[in-house]
Amino acid sequence: MGQVIILEETTRNPITLMGQRAGVCWGADITDGAKNYKRGLDCIISGHHRVMEYVNVEMILDGYSARVIREWYTHIGGAPTRLQASTRYIRYEDFSYITPHTLQANPEAEALYRETMKAIAESCAKLEQEYGIPREDAALLLPLGMETKIVDKRNVRNLIEMSHQRMCTRAYWEYRELMRDLCGALKAYSEEWGYLVDHYFLPKCEVTGYCTEKKSCGRRPKKEEG
Ligand SMILES: Cc1cc2nc3c(=O)[nH]c(=O)nc-3n(C[C@H](O)[C@H](O)[C@H](O)COP(=O)(O)OP(=O)(O)OC[C@H]3O[C@@H](n4cnc5c(N)ncnc54)[C@H](O)[C@@H]3O)c2cc1C
Repeated sequence: MGQVIILEETTRNPITLMGQRAGVCWGADITDGAKNYKRGLDCIISGHHRVMEYVNVEMILDGYSARVIREWYTHIGGAPTRLQASTRYIRYEDFSYITPHTLQANPEAEALYRETMKAIAESCAKLEQEYGIPREDAALLLPLGMETKIVDKRNVRNLIEMSHQRMCTRAYWEYRELMRDLCGALKAYSEEWGYLVDHYFLPKCEVTGYCTEKKSCGRRPKKEEG
């Protein structure tokens, strides 16, 4: 099971910080925490979302599949950065992997899935140990379902944009679970994060009021064709 660990470099009071940064430009008293908070909230509500880019989020994502992390990397707004576990130095003879929930209801399919993962692990080990193939080459056999770990750094504007796409029912199920874990970890970090998550980490249909996807889940009606 994956987990999101919020690192201490993450802005503890994001709304107050946004108000403090905006206050500089408005010649306001930025020493007053309550006024900063109120100003920050006003900026968000008014849609002045540039201020969100001052809010830093640094975290470890551990135990999610290489596949979902590949999708995570598509969210490039605001130039985020990250480090990812190397495929050179980890013991791949016994790599961990994600097992989809759909397999739980089908023991035969689950057995096939597990046997395939085991065969990949055994082949990686054999290539390396019996044939002397370098680990970086044997590692090309590794599946997208393999668990990985990253250290990620981005701003909250990026995460809010991400939530609109990835909390949508059309998003890959593991990404939706990752978003659930992320929301939980941020909410636990501070009260201000709790407010941001509850009000702004939303699927896109909750922002627009209608579904923009071609294949709708029905949570919101589709926009009438104009
Ligand atoms: C159901 C679903 C299916 C998908 N299928 C695929 C797929 O098959 N293949 C695939 O490659 N991806 C796929 N994606 C990923 C998708 O295409 C985007 O890459 C992903 O949503 C991240 O892009 P973004 O614009 O949402 O986020 P970000 O890159 O974080 O951008 C956020 C916002 O910032 C602005 N922005 C970002 N970059 C720029 C820029 N360069 N110039 C100007 N403005 C910018 C835009 O307003 C953008 O909306 C899928 C996503 C979903 C939800």
